Amino acid sequence: MDWKGRRQSDNIEDRRGRASRGGAPFGRGGMRLPTGRMRGSRLSFKTILIIGVVFLVLKLVGIDPLQLLGGNPGTAPTSQVSEPRKDEMTQFVATVLAETEDVWNGIMQSQGRSYPEPTLVLFSGAVRSACGNASAASGPFYCPADQKVYIDLSFFDELAQRFKASGDFAQAYVLAHEVGHHVQNLIGVLPEFNRRRPSMSQSEQNRMSVRVELQADCFAGIWGHYTAQRGLLERGDLEEALNAAQQIGDDTIQRRTKGFIVPESFNHGTSAQRREWFARGFESGRLESCDTFNNPV
Ligand SMILES: [Zn+2]
Repeated sequence: MDWKGRRQSDNIEDRRGRASRGGAPFGRGGMRLPTGRMRGSRLSFKTILIIGVVFLVLKLVGIDPLQLLGGNPGTAPTSQVSEPRKDEMTQFVATVLAETEDVWNGIMQSQGRSYPEPTLVLFSGAVRSACGNASAASGPFYCPADQKVYIDLSFFDELAQRFKASGDFAQAYVLAHEVGHHVQNLIGVLPEFNRRRPSMSQSEQNRMSVRVELQADCFAGIWGHYTAQRGLLERGDLEEALNAAQQIGDDTIQRRTKGFIVPESFNHGTSAQRREWFARGFESGRLESCDTFNNPV
């Protein structure tokens, strides 16, 4: 993807490593995790004096204390991503998010709707959302209650290694899929699903969930359509997204993890379905082509 030098979104809340450091303020309107370390965060004169002495000593033995401090802002111990790459990753997700904003602002405007932009929360390890607490293990998610997309960027390593889906456009597809859930929230699909859920059996819920997820894939495809039109796609990018859709299909994951498939338990769609619906959105660029509820999937 030819993403460098393009607009980066400001709708990002960086909560990586903040919880364990204490005292560092979150971004605008961010929630603070109760770490219990907030008391006495105001530095006393004595503390400042000690810090000053430590600085001097480090300088004298040839270590630059500023370098020590500046090297690892907000690093989580669990993250395996090296700092320079993570920095570029942050820029990358901010750019992809900005692209989704441009695309969906345009589409919603053409439908006479507004597009309240979602916030992307970067976290490491665990996070608290209006939908409850989550750990990195559960993967990226969208919370309709606070209209935020949550991601631990180490998921991209997992995507490349465990799911065999590498490449920046594969990563962009994951983000665009979550933003797709935000669009579903705005147009009433998610609220309707959550309203009907309690009266459904588990297998009915799964079948409905598949249609919701495939529509989010199709919406990600729509984003890809306009991204291609804007000249951001490079050779092989589309294949990266289709491969990602393939690798995170329910049947492919179950075959890999269990060795067999249980179709009644599918809740995201098969590899073939996920590829198909992403491709539909990508080819048409139109919301109407993503009606997974009134068409066979
Ligand atoms: Zn989803």
